[in-house]
Formats: sequence, C-alpha cells, structure tokens
Amino acid sequence: MKFRLVDLLACPICKHFPLKLDIFEVYEITPPEKIVKCELYCSYHGGFVKDLERTECEVCYSKEIKSGLLTCPSCKRWYPIEDDIPRMLPDEIRQQREDLAFLRKWRDKISSEILSGGKPFNLNQVTSGVREKN
Ligand SMILES: [Zn+2]
Ligand SMILES: [Zn+2]
Repeated sequence: MKFRLVDLLACPICKHFPLKLDIFEVYEITPPEKIVKCELYCSYHGGFVKDLERTECEVCYSKEIKSGLLTCPSCKRWYPIEDDIPRMLPDEIRQQREDLAFLRKWRDKISSEILSGGKPFNLNQVTSGVREKN
C-alpha cells in the first residue's frame, strides 16, 4: 500500500478523515515516473499538507507498506494492511477469527487502546467471553 492512499481514504463506517497509519513492515520499490502529490493529508509526513513546510511525496512513492494498521480515531475501528493491501471492510463481512489473529500477530506494535477496545473486534472481548463461560 502506498502512503499516498491515506490521502484518499476515509473510514468506510463513519467517514472520518484522515485515518491514522501505523507501519509494521515496509519495503523499497522503484517509484513510478508520474506521481500525484498528497492533496489534503500526507501520511508519510504525518500531517495536513497545509501545515507542512514541504512534502516529499517522491520519497514516499518509493516505499510500499507491506503490513500495518489503519485506525479511525473517531469510531475506534481498525483496518488491517496485509500483503500490501488495506482491508477496509464493513463490520458484517469481517472475519473475527482472522482479525483476532492479526491483532495477536502484531500485538507488540498495536496500541493498547485498539488491542483492548478497538472495533469491531478486540482481544478484550475474547477474554471476557471465556470468563463468562467459566
Ligand atoms: Zn505525501
Ligand atoms: Zn470511523
């Protein structure tokens, strides 16, 4: 996934913009000849374009995010980035088992806010589910 994509994405559920980007794995690629600079929000520089002194979007086009996390600060939903692809799915068709496996895999890099309170799934729900059973 390109850094540039964050400039084009809003939360599919509550439409909040911009989403917060956390990067787990990134690799270098040959940038394309033509690049389109971020218009509103540059996730490579982590700020709104109007507040940035300069944007080097040439640099961010030479990187591909292999895995990471997009988080909505408004509704606390989180969206995994895996194998270069952000998965921006509505709650109904998300797979709890896969999503929880993702949280566990990257738990050292994910904020406790999301681990224990992220939507639609988080690790706290699972633990409390087990407790209820006992
Ligand atoms: Zn940019
Ligand atoms: Zn949202």
